[in-house]
Amino acid sequence: MRQYFVKEKLQCGSIVTLSEEIAHHLKNVLRKKSGEVIRLVDCQGSAFLARLIVDEEVQAQAYEQLASRRQRGRITCCPCLIKRDKWEMLIQKAAELGADRIVPVISSRTIIHIDEKEMDRKLARWNKIALEACQQSNRTDICVVERPVYLVNIAAYRSDNNLLAYENEANVQLLDLCDNRDITIVTGPEGGFSSQEAEFLNSLGFRSCSLGERILRAETALLYALAVIDAGRNVL
Ligand code: SAH
Repeated sequence: MRQYFVKEKLQCGSIVTLSEEIAHHLKNVLRKKSGEVIRLVDCQGSAFLARLIVDEEVQAQAYEQLASRRQRGRITCCPCLIKRDKWEMLIQKAAELGADRIVPVISSRTIIHIDEKEMDRKLARWNKIALEACQQSNRTDICVVERPVYLVNIAAYRSDNNLLAYENEANVQLLDLCDNRDITIVTGPEGGFSSQEAEFLNSLGFRSCSLGERILRAETALLYALAVIDAGRNVL
């Protein structure tokens, strides 16, 4: 069932007018008719079933609140910036896989440069990709993409459990460090982290862990890590 985020606070019986973009999608792309059911998630993350009222405008009336999902720790992802098409794919898939926050990191081997003038436009685009992925995967919360930060400033993004995916770590596996607390996971760029950078992260409390014997591409590494964290939490 299609799900959309709305800015309003909903209760059973509330009628909301959907944005032009959502209305176009429902009416002209999906050919939805009045009476058909969608899910709406309101500004507080509550999910409702709602019936469509399709006219010039498209409205929906909430009629049943859905039970909220299990509380789990938040996941902050700090992947180093990578080339554009892979970066956008990374955002989309990370949002599907449960990332709550994505903080692009600039390290010594980051080869991507984003002009400060371009930044607001890029951020809006990245957040749109994340929002659509959350909608599409029926999440009731939104994954936010923040402004890029230099690795030296990463301490501000620490959580209860701080992890570094490090290809030179052989003994400690990510799965063994996963728990239900808030997690921050850092992954490197195409060229990996220097040993000084790994030591710096360790000194801030990021524990190095392996993602297995194979060396994964930067974008694969973060997505693999998110899948492992999700699986690790489900068996706890
Ligand atoms: N430096 C490497 C490749 C880096 S892979 C080289 O050029 O040979 C990019 C990033 O993905 C790494 O910095 C790390 O964060 C993550 N990564 C990839 N494979 C990994 C593995 N097996 N274990 C832990 N992290 C891995």
